[in-house]
Amino acid sequence: MKTPGYINRNGQQLLRATDERGTDHNARIWILKCRNCLNIYGSNSTDAFERKCPKCQSGKPGLPVPIERDGQDWTHEEHLIAFQLYSRIPFGTIHMRNPLLIELAALLGRKIGSASRKLANFSRLDPVHQARGVLGQEPKDTTEWLTRFDGQRLILPKKFAPSSEFLEKHAAKCRAKAC
Ligand SMILES: [Zn+2]
Repeated sequence: MKTPGYINRNGQQLLRATDERGTDHNARIWILKCRNCLNIYGSNSTDAFERKCPKCQSGKPGLPVPIERDGQDWTHEEHLIAFQLYSRIPFGTIHMRNPLLIELAALLGRKIGSASRKLANFSRLDPVHQARGVLGQEPKDTTEWLTRFDGQRLILPKKFAPSSEFLEKHAAKCRAKAC
């Protein structure tokens, strides 16, 4: 059994081993990511070691990426993981074709649209967006700026909170209406 991070001889990286049945005898679906083109696809666990990317290496078509958690409430931990991504990418790149969002969805077992909506929802509570046009204005307490997200109590540890550098860049972009 390989662990996430394993890279096969064709540069295909294991993102997550799922419990979903594959199409080979006794196979499970493993989610692979191509290190060349960032394509994400499902593979049988049995042939993951020799898989080639369906997009850039003429490998056979991928299996569907499982979305086991679709429809289930987002956990506190999932919110934190999604928020980490939110705080790293420009607002204008929150869309369903962003490879980082596609990877987030694959890691969490959720639909890409659901992951994309989650990040877009963060922006509605983002003090930078609420105070559009005010450069460098930081929330008073960055550890609690999303505490009522989705009606859940969500306290972000400092390490997950956006840096003042991020907030400043973010605000500058919004002022320039680039986000
Ligand atoms: Zn590829």
